[in-house]
Amino acid sequence: MNTHQSISKSDLALARETGFSECAIALRRALTTTPVGWLLAVWFCWGRVPIHSIALWLGCAAAVWAGSLAVLQHMIVVGSQLALHRNRLRWIAGLDGFGWGLLTWFLIGYDPTLDATLMALLCGVTSINAQVYGTYVVAYFGQIGILWSMAVFGLLLLTSSQGALDYVAGLSVFIALTAYYTRAISQRLIEGIRLQHANASLASQLRTALHKVELDAATDALTGQGNRRALDEELKRQLERRAASGIAFSILMLDIDFFKNINDEFGHMVGDDVLRAFAQRLREFLRSDDFCARFGGEEFVVVLPDTPLAAALEIGERICRGIAHAPLLTKPRVQATVSIGVATMEPGQNICELFAAADAAVYLAKNGGRNQVRSHMHMPVQVDGI
Ligand code: GH3
Ligand code: MG
Ligand code: MG
Repeated sequence: MNTHQSISKSDLALARETGFSECAIALRRALTTTPVGWLLAVWFCWGRVPIHSIALWLGCAAAVWAGSLAVLQHMIVVGSQLALHRNRLRWIAGLDGFGWGLLTWFLIGYDPTLDATLMALLCGVTSINAQVYGTYVVAYFGQIGILWSMAVFGLLLLTSSQGALDYVAGLSVFIALTAYYTRAISQRLIEGIRLQHANASLASQLRTALHKVELDAATDALTGQGNRRALDEELKRQLERRAASGIAFSILMLDIDFFKNINDEFGHMVGDDVLRAFAQRLREFLRSDDFCARFGGEEFVVVLPDTPLAAALEIGERICRGIAHAPLLTKPRVQATVSIGVATMEPGQNICELFAAADAAVYLAKNGGRNQVRSHMHMPVQVDGI
């Protein structure tokens, strides 16, 4: 229960963080369109309001706007993190509200029709900003609070105008309702972001789990090497590769000598350790793109891409010497040797025939006295005994 609560709490914090940076980006877009609002205001006021009043309001609004845009740009470039930039964004929102609120100080009271138009403009600004600040509603409340205070103060200064009180009432109701609905919408937006994060994290967990399942399905549990299924896939890949490039590939079939005796002498658990140690030692002799699989019991198959028979025989010989050279286990000391059959994919051959050739080569190596490498071409390869 506690874990679940802390997960959903951190989910919510992450959603708020994302909401904050989305808000910063939306605000930058909105600020770049702010001059359109000024143009409208100037157009409405032209010829009705003294030029110096228009210029004063425009100057104040533009100064606040330019400063805000610069700070916002910096914030976005360095990464708009909630903890670091929360106050900056609130200041920007507040100053924007201040700039628009100033409108009532400089442009109202000259013409009743113009006053009504400007109040409609303020309502429009408030509505647009409700969208902009949807994912960081605290800044919006700050902004409309300042805009409302400035506007009411400005309007009440015009005591001569009867309309002032109507405007105060109208603007107050409009702003209060907008705030009420914006809060509800904001909660839904944050919840939407939280769900997006939850889905993304679920998708990533599923991808990881799927990858693990795929890996497990292709891995031999005892030795960590490929299993038969992975070997089949690898051989299919090599066949396609050979068809495209024409370069031969070879396989080594390895069968640990007298492994039954190891089990009989030391027990199956030690036998398992020997199999693990054998697989590990085997990998030391292989390149990273060579593929190794446990074929069954104490038999392994190595796929050597782009490797003709002569090179495969050399590799087989190196492995044979390397296994015989030092004990696979020291406690208890278990020394083993391996018989290796080599086969190269001949033109027109299929996978079954390739395995049969490698198997026959292992049989030759066993019959030849074990601890040696043979190929399907019956080429004997000398390996020093232990
Ligand atoms: P050869 O030199 O002819 O290959 O003799 P060998 O004793 O290695 O061959 P054989 O096929 O007679 O015995 C293989 C043994 O491998 C028998 C079986 O119990 C053992 N074995 C197979 N799988 C496992 C395993 O997963 N763990 C252990 N510990 N032993 C296994
Ligand atoms: Mg065997
Ligand atoms: Mg064996």
